[in-house]
Amino acid sequence: MAKPFPESVVEAAWNRSGGRCECTRSSHGHASRCRTQLNKGSRGKETAMGWEAHHINSNGEPVLSNCEILCQDCHKKTGSYGG
Ligand SMILES: [Zn+2]
Ligand SMILES: [Zn+2]
Repeated sequence: MAKPFPESVVEAAWNRSGGRCECTRSSHGHASRCRTQLNKGSRGKETAMGWEAHHINSNGEPVLSNCEILCQDCHKKTGSYGG
């Protein structure tokens, strides 16, 4: 069970992302980085600009290096268990 990220980590990850999906998984069919535009207020929402703070390693610590801002499309493709 992944440990939830503190708000400070989500905030830092959001700032790092520049408000765009950070996914770089080649299996998703997007460019080298997804870069889908996101809306900060839409975290956890099933909307075009919705996003999730994803655990890169679901067993890892809830720290910035383990946090990735993903659009809903990428988050669904990735699942809850990393990869
Ligand atoms: Zn994406
Ligand atoms: Zn992706």
